[in-house]
Amino acid sequence: MSNDTDRAEGATLSRARPERVVIVGSGQAAVELAASMRRRRFAGSLVLVGDESDLPYQRPPLSKDFHPASRAAMPLRAESFYAANSIELRLGAVVERIDRDARVVVLTDGTLLPYDHLVLATGARNRVPAIPGLNPGMALELRTLAHAHSLAARLAELRHVTVAGGGFIGLEVACLLRGRDIEVDVIEAADRLMGRVLSPVMSDYFRQFHAKAGIRLWFSNTVGSVARNAARQVVMLADGTTINTDAILIAIGVLPNDALARAAGLKVDNGIVVDAQLRTSDPTISAIGDCAAHPNPFSRGLVRLESVQNAIDQARCVAAGLTGAPALYRCLPWFWSNQGSVRLQIAGLAADTDEPVVRGDPKSGAFSVFLYRGERLVAVESVNKPSDHMAARGILSAGLSVPRSMAADTRADLKGVAGEAALVQATSVV
Ligand SMILES: Cc1cc2nc3c(=O)[nH]c(=O)nc-3n(C[C@H](O)[C@H](O)[C@H](O)COP(=O)(O)OP(=O)(O)OC[C@H]3O[C@@H](n4cnc5c(N)ncnc54)[C@H](O)[C@@H]3O)c2cc1C
Repeated sequence: MSNDTDRAEGATLSRARPERVVIVGSGQAAVELAASMRRRRFAGSLVLVGDESDLPYQRPPLSKDFHPASRAAMPLRAESFYAANSIELRLGAVVERIDRDARVVVLTDGTLLPYDHLVLATGARNRVPAIPGLNPGMALELRTLAHAHSLAARLAELRHVTVAGGGFIGLEVACLLRGRDIEVDVIEAADRLMGRVLSPVMSDYFRQFHAKAGIRLWFSNTVGSVARNAARQVVMLADGTTINTDAILIAIGVLPNDALARAAGLKVDNGIVVDAQLRTSDPTISAIGDCAAHPNPFSRGLVRLESVQNAIDQARCVAAGLTGAPALYRCLPWFWSNQGSVRLQIAGLAADTDEPVVRGDPKSGAFSVFLYRGERLVAVESVNKPSDHMAARGILSAGLSVPRSMAADTRADLKGVAGEAALVQATSVV
């Protein structure tokens, strides 16, 4: 990822300068795009259409430190921000259709919004499987503020919750529930926790951590069916085990909201397919955030990421392109999750890696796992080690690596390597 490559690819960068920009969605990506456009002195019209009626809010606190009493949640921006920046916020409004020939989006109430450039920031929705016997009203999920309120409203009556899915959100909520003395069983279809994104060694750390907190974990198992027994529900697992429970939280992952794009004839493949500038198969339409399947220099093939970092950085990349400074999207993916007393931070993408190097002692509750492909560092997972995480971000962003022996040596100065990496990056910009 040299600057030469940048310049060569830069020759094909689009230099469109639209006047009217419509953004579909009102989540992290949409709001950051609008804010970034104004920071870049975009003087045209900006309309943001979101189907949720709440003032745009942050999702991460919903599964971490959500306070049931606070109706306002954690707004992404103060209400006054939108008017002050001439951002037309249409909340509780659904985009039904895109007319690409006429360059208008059509809302369900018949409103037509013309655009020169359209940005799809439609996010994702929870996967909710059809489980025999499960009354949809009895299932809990967590994606929206409304979901968080439903969960909060039931907290006082819950003695036991079954969590379907041992991923980030299922485990964060399991910790919140245990913190309130609620019994929790987590049912995971794979043979380890957070297996889609974490290394086996880190999954194993979390298995022990959650088991110690009193969370019962089931692996290679699924919720097969649900029956009712007096006031409670009985969950029947695929292996025949039964669990008496008060509620079932479905947390088995998300699906991209790509139906609008598909219906408009845009290329879709587990998300809205975009190029390195985040343009869809129609160059007047971009897609960003959870809904976008994009080429990422830190991954093989197209990838769809569900993270705040990705939503923000993609928004900024598109804002740059629409204000005359086109750029390729090449940001390092990073992520965090808070589970009980553990703050997990991940830099890079851990797929297809070799033998890991553990830095520090997992028993101390503060350590990192360095993941390599051959001799190349590709990802670092840290538990309560923000200094390792920040150093890893610097090193990986610069396309650098650290030898395995150095990664394993807790006295070795990673911060120094990250500093060198920053220097390499700064001095190679001509
Ligand atoms: C409970 C929870 C905890 C999380 N914790 C973390 C974390 O710790 N760290 C982290 O990095 N990430 C976390 N994430 C993920 C992160 O919040 C998301 O990646 C990010 O919010 C994605 O932003 P987005 O704008 O792409 O999509 P979204 O936030 O999903 O916003 C898209 C919006 O578009 C709306 N929309 C869709 N279709 C239409 C339409 N046709 N018309 C109008 N509106 C439409 C949707 O309803 C939605 O409101 C968490 C997510 C959840 C749910």
